[in-house]
Amino acid sequence: MISPRKLKIFGKRDFDKIPQLQKLSNDEKFSIKVASHVLPFRTNNYVVDELIDWNKVPDDPMFKLTFINSDMLLPEHYDTMYRALKNNYPPEKIKAIANEIRFELNPHPAGQLSANLPLVNGEIMNGIQHKYRETVLVFPSAGQTCHAFCSFCFRWAQFVGIDTLKFATDESNKFLEYIKNHKEVTDVLFTGGDPLIMTVQKLKIYIEPLLKPGFEHIQNIRIGTKSISYWPYRFVTDKDSDELLKFFEKIVSSGKHLAIMGHFNHWVELSTDVAKEAVKRIRNTGAEIRSQSPLIKFINDDSEVWARMWKEQVKMGIIPYYFFIARNTGAQHYFKIPLAKAFTIYRNAYKKVSGLIRTVRGPSMSATPGKVAIEGITEIYGEKVFVLNFIQARNPAWVKRPFFATFDETAAWLDDLTPAFGSDKFFYEDELERMINRKFESVKAEAI
Ligand SMILES: *Cc1c(COP(=O)(O)O)cnc(C)c1O
Repeated sequence: MISPRKLKIFGKRDFDKIPQLQKLSNDEKFSIKVASHVLPFRTNNYVVDELIDWNKVPDDPMFKLTFINSDMLLPEHYDTMYRALKNNYPPEKIKAIANEIRFELNPHPAGQLSANLPLVNGEIMNGIQHKYRETVLVFPSAGQTCHAFCSFCFRWAQFVGIDTLKFATDESNKFLEYIKNHKEVTDVLFTGGDPLIMTVQKLKIYIEPLLKPGFEHIQNIRIGTKSISYWPYRFVTDKDSDELLKFFEKIVSSGKHLAIMGHFNHWVELSTDVAKEAVKRIRNTGAEIRSQSPLIKFINDDSEVWARMWKEQVKMGIIPYYFFIARNTGAQHYFKIPLAKAFTIYRNAYKKVSGLIRTVRGPSMSATPGKVAIEGITEIYGEKVFVLNFIQARNPAWVKRPFFATFDETAAWLDDLTPAFGSDKFFYEDELERMINRKFESVKAEAI
């Protein structure tokens, strides 16, 4: 039996309330505080008491995953904020400095603001993204936060309180009209933040309509979540846990597939009794759990960690799904791993596991044109190259058409790569440019 736990949330002003943190020196604590004034910080008593191994701090992976440190900011950004706090600037000035830095951190990578938002009658529809034909992402406004924030999170801009940086739809559900009219869409993915931070009541407002007539084309409902890791009590002993699971059952019995897209970065997150119980209870509803994570330096840059995590997942009935490259936003300079090394870690982990685990796809970069996987590193007619492939693309015709980039030991993102064999462009580049320009033009035309 799992006993209920009362949630205690810690933000950037609560460092004094975390007993374990008091072991750190005042300088160390202050540097965490400085960094947490730029990148969003939030954790809770479960993460602090059960997931972090405080004997291994500051190197412990779960500590790095949740506590922002000074090296996660560029030195000039850190210095600016350090001075502001040391000199006790007024709060509004500190906020302005923080925001200035944030806008320099590529808050919305991969063209999310410019290219993914659908147009309805020439108007941009906020709160959803439609990049790949089959799948619409929905960002429920009440789900734009998480139980705890990951220091590398590519959605960090959702959490810093700047409205112009935020994707969110409200409960008026205009997005439903869009989905109803787009019969090519089979998947609706609720994302955030973490939609499971919402009460069941709120969640139902978004999901229940999709079970009704008019939405027969929607086969799969996905919910992206970190809750199994950061607050498994959500599924076990919280006030509306049972109601949540009943709702999952209802979705499944309506004939649709319910996929919980669980975010796990390290096997430690699945090691507690309550996490195991959460997985068991979710699976008992008929929902499937799939797992995804980026490769992150200091946290999981080791093939052993991945192999152990995937094995544990499959034993629990979780299906490994995506192995991502950390995106070019926020603290990427700190967490990034060169593509060549990322491929080696992926391959070494993949080599160690059975076929049931090799459902995992990657290493994948979610870039502007699509999800680009590194298929291999090889030599063709004397030139060392990366073999690349689209797992998903803005134009479905680009999918699974191998293409080649010159090998580069230090490249860490698609933008760092150049086409191999002397070509000056990758095959999709002209068309991508046309697609994005066309979108801009139609928005401008309507605005005039
Ligand atoms: C990854 C992603 C999806 C889902 O892709 P699948 O391959 O179907 O899992 C949908 N939309 C966006 C914008 C994505 O980045």
